[in-house]
Amino acid sequence: MNRYLALFLLLSSASAAVADGTTEFCLDGEFDLGMRYQGTTPEAGEAYPTSWCVVTDDDSNRVLFTGTGKSNPDMDGDWSVAYLPPDVVRIVNREAPPDVEFRGTDNLDEALRVRRVDPRRLLQEIRTTREGVNGLAAEVVDDRLLSVRTSADLPLRGRVSVVWNWDWKDAARPRLRLVVDDALLFEAVGRWREVPDDEAASIWQATPGEGPIEVPGDRWPATVDMRLTDLAEGVYLVRGVRTGFQHLVVDTDEGLVIADAPAGWVEFHHIPPSDLVPGLGISGLSESFVDFLNEELPGRPIRAAVLTHFHDDHAGGARAFAAAGAAVYSTKESAAFFQHALNRSTMPADRLSEQKKPVSVVPVVEPVVLGEKPNRVKLLPIGSGPHSYAMLGVWAIDRDYFFVSDVHVPRSDAEQPAEHRAATECWFAEWAVSNLPTEVRVVNSHSPEVTPVSRLASYLESDTCKEQTARRR
Ligand SMILES: [Zn+2]
Repeated sequence: MNRYLALFLLLSSASAAVADGTTEFCLDGEFDLGMRYQGTTPEAGEAYPTSWCVVTDDDSNRVLFTGTGKSNPDMDGDWSVAYLPPDVVRIVNREAPPDVEFRGTDNLDEALRVRRVDPRRLLQEIRTTREGVNGLAAEVVDDRLLSVRTSADLPLRGRVSVVWNWDWKDAARPRLRLVVDDALLFEAVGRWREVPDDEAASIWQATPGEGPIEVPGDRWPATVDMRLTDLAEGVYLVRGVRTGFQHLVVDTDEGLVIADAPAGWVEFHHIPPSDLVPGLGISGLSESFVDFLNEELPGRPIRAAVLTHFHDDHAGGARAFAAAGAAVYSTKESAAFFQHALNRSTMPADRLSEQKKPVSVVPVVEPVVLGEKPNRVKLLPIGSGPHSYAMLGVWAIDRDYFFVSDVHVPRSDAEQPAEHRAATECWFAEWAVSNLPTEVRVVNSHSPEVTPVSRLASYLESDTCKEQTARRR
């Protein structure tokens, strides 16, 4: 915001209704997972009902954020986070305590970004911040916030504009159009509620019962803590690429083959949007991964990065592997999309742009085998399921390990899948049982469990999967 507008705002009447006490502001609408490359296909127009709610105080910077909706087509993504500046962030598990508390975070900046979801709170902040709110261009007319313009670096898209447009025809229920890269990401209607004192008091308390699990603040919201673990001779899982992400690495005679090319994660309910792993941008996480591999496995060239599916968090780092000399493989269905997306002119500077080379994506038309015995890797299309279309598995065939992303994420060694993941887990179990030998063990992107194919066969015998099969018929 320019300083004249700021001055004008400071001098203009302060009549805009900013409620005293604690208020809740909710946005109910539809979020386009396709637009952010987390849907079933890499195309816009896959919108799911979504709500974002923020509870804020007039006299503190505490914020409770609750998001309700889908984080993927096959995943409900409800979550609730309380920011208690200056140093505590709490993941609130009201339904299934304990909460998780990150202690020693420096979270005021993040709390403010989330607080700005409420346009009245943002207007109030603009009015009281003479130099303007950093990174934002706000348009205010007649005591109303009409738009807020900022930008984000989005994997597979590059640097894009992010605009929150507010329509105040109904002042109590303003309409939001959140437009990213000139396309509609989230369209929603707002509503406010004054939170009574007794309710407000309990909102900022940890869920009663079991005390919160305490976690060091530097682990919020995600950290990079890469560790090489052995599965077999020359077959590794790199854990902690970022919190919750691990990747298969196979040392073939042609060089290293890596499953997936991770990128960061942009939080769109932050104004301006922030990166889950700050400072790494689009290619930085996979560039760190490349550096880690060079250190841990010196002298081993990186032969290939295999993109298991088009979701931006699993594929958006491919430029880093191309810069390291690797071939980039994807399914034949996704290849044209990746070829375009990874080479956009909007990509911020990274190692690949320094080399002035494009990424060229190799489509896996028939199953591809890389390297020779005893560490061959087979890239095997596994088809389209409830998580995404056109997926690939990465199979260390001589060592009987098969890696998949997002379609198998067991929480335990139970003989049946978790109910809330049943559609995808049963779909994958069916594929695995008909396509993989029984001695194969399945490793995955997000959980430490190693699953023998025989256990996936028991999945199919469970009531959970039988119900899924019946539903599909
Ligand atoms: Zn995914």
